[in-house]
Amino acid sequence: MTALLIDLDGVLYETDEPIAGASATIQWLQENDVPHLFLTNTTSRPRTAIVGKLAGMGIDVTAAKILTPLVAAAEWLSTNAQGPAALFVTPATLEEFESIDIAAADDMRVASVVVGDFGERWSFAELNRAFRLLMNEPQPVLVALGMTRYWKAEDGLRLDTAPFVVALAHASGVEPIVLGKPARPFFETALAMLGAAPGETLMVGDDINGDVGGALSAGIRGALVRTGKFRPEDLDGDVRPDYVLDSIADLPQHWSSM
Ligand SMILES: [Mg+2]
Repeated sequence: MTALLIDLDGVLYETDEPIAGASATIQWLQENDVPHLFLTNTTSRPRTAIVGKLAGMGIDVTAAKILTPLVAAAEWLSTNAQGPAALFVTPATLEEFESIDIAAADDMRVASVVVGDFGERWSFAELNRAFRLLMNEPQPVLVALGMTRYWKAEDGLRLDTAPFVVALAHASGVEPIVLGKPARPFFETALAMLGAAPGETLMVGDDINGDVGGALSAGIRGALVRTGKFRPEDLDGDVRPDYVLDSIADLPQHWSSM
């Protein structure tokens, strides 16, 4: 293996506690110049906030090494859909789109419609604005920042990104490009950023489907860690990880034989 993709939640930390040995493994990566990126599906916060959270746990990571669906979207759009992008994302994350041309709210023609964490900002008017933009000819691309169906908020379950993307895709007939694990374009963006070949790259994660399954379907090797959301029955399913590690702390000692 020559390059690494590493999940954050459940691999480097659980809730607000670092996983034992995580910080030493990150230091080992940096000292040995192992090409790597941290892959997370977080779309509610910019990388600067993630860097701060990790630093608070003694884990030293720079923003340039973190790939979120927001960053992948900006990267993907810059090569695949040049022109104004209509963003349906949380305002706190707009800093991740500094490199692209952001459409004004009254722009009628755009090159892309990007749907992420928009929560309570959705209204019929906003959903219909996205729909009308998608109905133009030529049709813009529809970019989904992940396809999570719902999440558990303090007051109960809440709709996530997928239901809105599916509604827009259904009405407009535009197939969404999904950037976020386990979708292949997200992993391909990561490989392009690293300049790495899929067969020489290892994804380390705690989610048998999102991390390992997604990586395998993009031709990337997958290592499952027994931390975070790992359950022993994960090893009995259809997705077969290439490696199983007790935790990220074990990576340096196995790396040369992987
Ligand atoms: Mg995870």
